[in-house]
Amino acid sequence: MVTRSNLIYSAAALRRMWGLLYRRLNEIQVREWHRVVWVWVPGYRPTFMPKAGFKRHFVEWRREAAQALRVVAWLDNASRYTVHNSDKGSAYVVEVSDQAVACTCEDYKNQVEFLGKGCCKHGYAVLGQLGFSSLGEYLAITNQRLQLLEQYQRQPLPVAA
Ligand SMILES: [Zn+2]
Repeated sequence: MVTRSNLIYSAAALRRMWGLLYRRLNEIQVREWHRVVWVWVPGYRPTFMPKAGFKRHFVEWRREAAQALRVVAWLDNASRYTVHNSDKGSAYVVEVSDQAVACTCEDYKNQVEFLGKGCCKHGYAVLGQLGFSSLGEYLAITNQRLQLLEQYQRQPLPVAA
């Protein structure tokens, strides 16, 4: 079951980060503490890891996975894309707006539920196609555009002499 904690601090993430692909997930213990993450894999000493490493991996892994996906823009809706994963034979719809890069997949739904916002690999595939390397960069630029538009709209109309 996905929870707020194991969405980021998961055995699967540690297995990928440490390259322990031969290990079963139930052998790997990962617990979120207040400021650190406690991890234990049989054969290794139990240890603490910084949360930042898991957070970085969370984003990097999705950005890497996005490379293998194929993005197809909708012809009748400029903000929608279908993202195909030919390995899995799956496809999801991504919709970009000023506030989010939303997807119909489970991962995106979980991120929004537990983190309040998110970006899945399908979202990163669309952002890549649009020339952005991160969700933060995309949101900053759309924000800037909105502010400029607001400024422009607040300017008084020129008065004819
Ligand atoms: Zn998705």
